[in-house]
Amino acid sequence: MNRILIAEDESRIAAFIEKGLRSHGFTTAVADDGITGIDMAVSNEFDLVILDLGLPGKDGLEVLEEIRGQGVEIPVIILTARDDIQDKVVGFEAGADDYLTKPFRFEELLVRVKARLRNNNSSSQPKEETTLKAGDVFLDLRSRKVKVNGESTELPAREFTLAETFFRHPGQILSREQLLDRVWGYDYDPGSNIVDVYVGYLRKKLGNNLIETVRGMGYRLRA
Ligand code: CA
Repeated sequence: MNRILIAEDESRIAAFIEKGLRSHGFTTAVADDGITGIDMAVSNEFDLVILDLGLPGKDGLEVLEEIRGQGVEIPVIILTARDDIQDKVVGFEAGADDYLTKPFRFEELLVRVKARLRNNNSSSQPKEETTLKAGDVFLDLRSRKVKVNGESTELPAREFTLAETFFRHPGQILSREQLLDRVWGYDYDPGSNIVDVYVGYLRKKLGNNLIETVRGMGYRLRA
């Protein structure tokens, strides 16, 4: 359920917006002056504000500044009668998320409302994992850098991929064959000691105790 606050003093326009939004399943309420608009916008009872710039009491920009000044991050779509670029600039600077010039078709407004709500919902969801951690060691998967005891270190690509493989399977025994397959990606001579050599590199750079040898089976990142 999405609740939309319409701060608009012209009852004909407010009714037009309300009717359209309600027919699309939204809950709506109208504030017909700026002061009421602020009170309702910061009340935590709405998911989005449609804000007319020309409001009595306090105008739309004052309303917006007040809302943002109170640290409320509700999405705001500004309505203005004038297609004035200056209005637009000032509106965005004051913290508006979008802008619509009157007269507008309802569909134009609806598209913007849905887009703002979608943005807002996605930003509150947990972000994609970008850092892996084990003990005091952090892997930043975007920059592909490693932080050990607060100090940033670069790893060559293979070493980073090997570290990432361990960090994604903490506490799990990984055999040499599994590591060869995941990091080098093709058949190495099973007698090759390349995995052991690279684990040695990682131990040197990330700390001796991070990766333990499990005799006869492979290696394991200490969980
Ligand atoms: Ca107005």
